[in-house]
Amino acid sequence: MAKTGSLSDIKKLSNLEKEQKVIDKAPFQHLTITNAQILDTIEGREICERCYKSRKFFCYSCYLPVISEKYFPKVKLPIKIDIIKHAREIDGKSTAIHATILAPDDVRIFTYPDFPEILDKEETVLIFPSQTAVTVDSLFTKDIQEDNKIVTTRIKNAFPIKRAIFIDSTWHQTKAIYKDQRLRDLRCVILKSRISQFWRHQKKSPRWYLATIEAIHQFLVEMHTCAFGTVQGYASTNDTADDIMDSVIYQHTNKLPDTDQRYKGQYDDLLYFFKYMYEKIHTMYDHDRLWAYKRPLI
Ligand SMILES: [Zn+2]
Repeated sequence: MAKTGSLSDIKKLSNLEKEQKVIDKAPFQHLTITNAQILDTIEGREICERCYKSRKFFCYSCYLPVISEKYFPKVKLPIKIDIIKHAREIDGKSTAIHATILAPDDVRIFTYPDFPEILDKEETVLIFPSQTAVTVDSLFTKDIQEDNKIVTTRIKNAFPIKRAIFIDSTWHQTKAIYKDQRLRDLRCVILKSRISQFWRHQKKSPRWYLATIEAIHQFLVEMHTCAFGTVQGYASTNDTADDIMDSVIYQHTNKLPDTDQRYKGQYDDLLYFFKYMYEKIHTMYDHDRLWAYKRPLI
């Protein structure tokens, strides 16, 4: 019996790998991301106004753009995002900065042991797969007392939290930061499984371990979908190859009125620099030869 089980596991994994190969061919096809061609017109580097270092697009030490705002979109987020990064994490490698550049009003970065002040623990969550972590969907259910009975209600058309904290570091360092007592009282949230498209191979981390900007995007999409639903045909980020074919249907959703609050790509531009850099790397190297994509899927 055990052998049959493992055989079917192998089959499942091989199907998963096949599906992933299709997604890897065009991983952003189903998302609404502003065309970043304009970034190709920027030649060389600029000097950061604050630290005077030479940088491309943005300064990863000061978290400021070094190019004019016309070169990138701005994204408005429905909640505040705080990112805690490990002091040893090399700034230039992190994708956390993409979030502060693209959503400057809503995102802050702290370098551990610096910490955001957590004023309302009830309305703050930590994105971390702890043993007690709950899904985004379960943040929307609430038990209330009604005539001596506990009744479960569901929050609709609103967000159940005001702030989410992400840890930006390697998987090993993330576990170390999680031990900090200040984070221990927070509810932890685990994201739906999604396969990373990050080109930087991280030692000992599987492909479901997302780059920070991918995790922020995934979290916001899941939360928005729970609150308002999603436009039919708009493929969510962990869909299979079949769903990606649905992106054709999605083209029609661009005509929806502004008052339609369902998810139709509102936060996809958070991947503006990520997609641009992904495509740059892939014009230079063959996908199949990039070590990052050879990491185990599960
Ligand atoms: Zn700077």
